[in-house]
Amino acid sequence: MRKIIIAIDGFSSCGKSTMAKDLAKKLHYRYIDSGAMYRAVTFYFMSNNLDYTNREIVLIELPKIHIEFNLNTESKNSDTYLNGENVEEKIRGMNVSMHVSNVSTIKEVRQAMVALQKKMSKSKAIVMDGRDIGTAVFPDAELKIFMTANPEIRAQRRYKELQAKGEDVTMDEVKQNLAERDHIDSTRKESPLQQADDAIVLDNSHFSKEQQMDFVYNLVMEKKLMEDIQVNQLRFSDEQHDLV
Ligand code: C5P
Repeated sequence: MRKIIIAIDGFSSCGKSTMAKDLAKKLHYRYIDSGAMYRAVTFYFMSNNLDYTNREIVLIELPKIHIEFNLNTESKNSDTYLNGENVEEKIRGMNVSMHVSNVSTIKEVRQAMVALQKKMSKSKAIVMDGRDIGTAVFPDAELKIFMTANPEIRAQRRYKELQAKGEDVTMDEVKQNLAERDHIDSTRKESPLQQADDAIVLDNSHFSKEQQMDFVYNLVMEKKLMEDIQVNQLRFSDEQHDLV
């Protein structure tokens, strides 16, 4: 079967990464967490006490930022590396979450990240999640999914996740952060979070992990089948043409 690109976009904390990661494993595809890249850039500015609202500083610093993903042999997931350092844990905390959407509005940051995302995905067989994957990074992706969930449920999931990591955070802070990020992400000038016209909406508020995976896996199989049929039809019409 043909390999395809699967673009998953949606609001903060609706389980995109978990779903995308599981799907990639099941399909033996590569998973790329584009949000981790914006988080790593934010972490760079914060840990070096750099003012990312100053354009000159951004232009000087951006070329010094090198992001890659390397396989963690224990968890079997790929961890985010910033200039050679594993920052997977450090980029997930509330302090980065509080700034990442502002950093992500910067045009030059987006241009650098999109270029890197395209480079990382030279071959197909990719599952990438984020906010602009189906609209800006891979507008021709064969399958686009737009994920959403009830804000209350998303906040509860995120709160539990942060608590499990030992972060000292209140439910109100989590709710406020999600609402703020969604607002900034959806209203920014540069490639805002939007549902692509050809995206399939997945509201997972009341889905179990298994139901969600079944739903998406069936979509993938349908798409792959359609792609195969189209390619065979093209081949067939070429052959007919050759016979004439
Ligand atoms: O996916 P995650 O919640 O980790 O993303 C963190 C932030 O990175 C988002 O709130 C958004 O501001 C930004 N982002 C983006 N474009 C992407 C992925 C993430 O602007 N493709």
